[in-house]
Amino acid sequence: MFATSLILAALIGSPFTPRAVVPVSSAAVAAVATPAAFNPAATARAHETSISVVPAVVGSATTTVETELGAIVATLGQDVPTTPGTPLAYVWTGVGVADGAYAVHVRLTDAAGAISDAIAPVIIDTEAPTVAFPPVLPSATQRGPVSLRASTADPSGVGAIAVEVLNQIDDPLGTVPIAVGTEGSGGTVAWNLKLRRRLLLPGVYHLRASITDGAGNVGRSDVRLLRVSRTVKARIIYSLPDAGNVIGLSFDDCTKSRDMLAIVNAFKAAKAHTTFFCNGVNVRSNPDAARAALAAGNTIGSHTWAHPQLPSLSYAEQASQIQGDVDVWWQVAKAAPTPFFRPPYGLHNAATLRAAGAAGFQWVVLWDVDPSDYLDPAPAVLVQKVVSHAHPGAIVVMHVNANTASAVPQLIRALRAKGLEPKSMDELFGASSYLAPPAG
Ligand SMILES: [Zn+2]
Repeated sequence: MFATSLILAALIGSPFTPRAVVPVSSAAVAAVATPAAFNPAATARAHETSISVVPAVVGSATTTVETELGAIVATLGQDVPTTPGTPLAYVWTGVGVADGAYAVHVRLTDAAGAISDAIAPVIIDTEAPTVAFPPVLPSATQRGPVSLRASTADPSGVGAIAVEVLNQIDDPLGTVPIAVGTEGSGGTVAWNLKLRRRLLLPGVYHLRASITDGAGNVGRSDVRLLRVSRTVKARIIYSLPDAGNVIGLSFDDCTKSRDMLAIVNAFKAAKAHTTFFCNGVNVRSNPDAARAALAAGNTIGSHTWAHPQLPSLSYAEQASQIQGDVDVWWQVAKAAPTPFFRPPYGLHNAATLRAAGAAGFQWVVLWDVDPSDYLDPAPAVLVQKVVSHAHPGAIVVMHVNANTASAVPQLIRALRAKGLEPKSMDELFGASSYLAPPAG
């Protein structure tokens, strides 16, 4: 009676207040459940709990699991003889029992008929935690630190917290662990913007908090945006010779929405991704196509605002051309063309590289295969021109136009027949395209 009334006293008033089950032990008997919270339906971990009953006297023990109201949901041992210091071991699977706080209740009757009780709290929790993840502070930065805070009110408490860092098309780049604070419901970290000891490059990032509750269930928050901008040193590339049997097709200008959507859909149908280097004026005119390209997982890069011959412009004019494209991508799609920049006609001078670096572009992506698709060759001719020059790691320059768009399905098939898989710049560079090169 003592034990049951104690549970009742502790638990009345809330449908699910796990910390209200107070452990009880006596001189005669103790009990512990490990883990103290679990999910009977889990496949990975914590799908049952092990119960150890430690008697200190000779007698007999009955071990049950009870609800908050003292109703027995499982009897683990009935009148089991006890030997001082020899534990009784049980496993409770909790199958078929509703989520909530329970008490393992041991009642030991000694040789003289005296009764002692022990109680071990145990929680069944099959639900993923709801994760609160407020906006990153500040949400725009050069090098951080930024404050990341995540918490939950999960009944079984917090096991672990991490923030997943993804690029703007939701490729995972790494995770930032957060230590659980002393209050036990969440934690905060001042993140220095480093993953694997490398600083995040300029760009727009998606951050999502993930919390593992005390029973092993994982919950994820909504995405929060982090915008990083600062000056970097731009590097020119023409191809990716170490990339393997892959090829980087790319489509410039993005003049017409219909043609861009046709290319997006052709890659979607082929289960592949590509890269668009759009002019800002066209991003502004074709916002739906711009967003569709991103939503399908393609890479976007900058191609300046209005397609000038950059070397004929001053540094300030070049910088303005590049920044205009960065700004419109943010306005239209909450996205950034960094870290990939392609100067119109491939024309560049020292000021171009400085201006690109100042706008946060790590990679100036030129090409080593040019099929002159702007001359509108017949699709079969265009395909033949690309395929005959294609090699592992090649970067191919083409344009968003109707003729080229109509050739894309055939082009992808022909490249695959040659053993070359088309990839986007994000895929070719991998997660490291968003991390500053290692120092030294
Ligand atoms: Zn162009």
